[in-house]
Parts: sequence; C-alpha cells; structure tokens
Amino acid sequence: MANILITGGSRGIGAACVRAFASGENRVAFFYHTDDRAAQSISQESGALAICADVSNPEEAIRGVKEVEKKFGAIDVLVNNAGISQIKLFTNLSDDDWRRMMATDLDGVFYVTREVSRGMIARQYGRIINIGSMWGKVGAACEVSYSAAKAGIRGLTKALAKELGPSKITVNCVEPGVIDTDMNQQLDETTKRELAEQTPLCRMGSPEEVAHVVRFLASKEASFLTGQCIGVDGGFAI
Ligand code: NDP
Repeated sequence: MANILITGGSRGIGAACVRAFASGENRVAFFYHTDDRAAQSISQESGALAICADVSNPEEAIRGVKEVEKKFGAIDVLVNNAGISQIKLFTNLSDDDWRRMMATDLDGVFYVTREVSRGMIARQYGRIINIGSMWGKVGAACEVSYSAAKAGIRGLTKALAKELGPSKITVNCVEPGVIDTDMNQQLDETTKRELAEQTPLCRMGSPEEVAHVVRFLASKEASFLTGQCIGVDGGFAI
C-alpha cells in the first residue's frame, strides 16, 4: 500500500493516473484548480481525496500538501501532472502569458515537490514522477512558453534525481506525445489528423497509456531507475 498525490487529477492524464493508482490498495489524493464537478465525479468514482489547490500559488500548494499529509500521514509517491498549454506566436506572448505558463507548469512543480520531498527525505523513501512533454525535448513552434517550461522540468528532474538519490528517492519524468485529452480539444480536426500522421504509430495516445508508465515508475520494479525522461509519444520525438 502506498500514499499517492497527483496534481491535476480531475481530468485527462491526471484522472487516468488517479484511476490507475486507486485500483490497488493505495490511498490516493489529487489536486485540481477550477473544475469542481469533474473533481467530484472522479473522486466518487475512485474513492480518491479531491483537494482544490492551485499549484501556481505557493501558499495553496503548501496547504494542499499539508492536508494530504495530515489525512494520510505521509506521501510516498508524487505525480506532478497539473499543467496548461498555450498556443500563440512568440511575438504575441504577453508578460502575463509567459508568467502564467511558468507559474503553472514549472513553478507549480517546484512548490509541490519542495514541500513533499521534506517528508520523503525524513523517511528516506519516495517516488517523484513529473509529467513533461515531448515539446520540452524537441520544441514546438507557437508553443515556446510551453516548450520552455517543459524543458525546465527535464532539468529539474535530472538535478533533483542526483540530489535526492542518496535519500533513496527516485525522480523521473514522463514526456507524452499527442494525447487525446481536453488539452487538445482546442486544435481543429485537420491539425489533430496531421499530428496523428506525424506520429510513427499513426494515432494519438490515450491518457491510460501514459498512466501505465507513471504507475510503473512508482512500482518496486522501477527501483533502480532515476533521472530519466521517458517518451510516451508513439515514436513522435525519437
Ligand atoms: P487537461 O487539460 O486535460 O487537464 C489538466 C489538469 O490539470 C486538470 O485536472 C486541471 O484542473 C489541472 N490544473 C491545471 N492548472 C492547475 C493549477 N494551477 N493547479 C492545480 N491543477 C491544475 O490536461 P492533460 O491531461 O492533457 O495534461 C496533463 C499533463 O500532461 C500536463 O502537464 C500537460 O502539459 C502534459 N501533457 C499533455 C499532453 C497532451 O497531448 N494532452 C502532451 C504532453 C504533455 P482543473 O480542470 O480543475 O483546472
């Protein structure tokens, strides 16, 4: 049995992770930001604890982690999944756009992980799994802020794996390709078809296909695996 915290667990990849972990003997909590109805629905279905906490706000991130620790006693596995996307020409990005992206997709990982890792270090055990993106590896036109934030997650993952390794904590990153979630609903059908065609496996991935890899990284079978960025992208970014 393990205690698991997943950020952004109310929809998409995060919700698939909640379901994947909740199917065992685990205790699962997740953060969400705005969508109460989606959060309540996944909470009822899975039995997971839903906490409204904006990861881009350090006070809320800390409050949310403390709430989980109070309820579960400790957190063994952290999945940093919460994120937003931003599709704009680079020259049209405002300062606010840039800050909002960094605050959610990168600062949020920092705030939550800093708080959770204190307990992991004290107990000399932990699994931290960050959800990056293939665009953090290869970059995407019109998604410069997103690509930069996700590239930051790569660096954070590798550096933190070195720092926390002696405390028996593994830190890894999963980099999805094009996954069929709400995040991609803003794309028109032609763009979605083109992205699927550019994927060697000729289709979008499902949130469950990402969740399987996340679950593996949290398992005892992945005990000697740390500092890795694993693409779950149907071969898009190889
Ligand atoms: P969705 O848009 O489907 O879901 C995003 C989730 O994150 C929701 O639960 C949302 O909660 C939560 N969230 C957003 N902002 C915050 C915040 N500030 N604080 C707390 N929770 C927040 O996204 P996906 O499932 O598609 O993506 C999940 C992760 O995977 C992201 O990090 C994304 O960048 C990454 N990814 C996705 C890909 C894809 O093709 N879908 C590809 C590569 C990476 P609420 O609804 O309440 O706001």
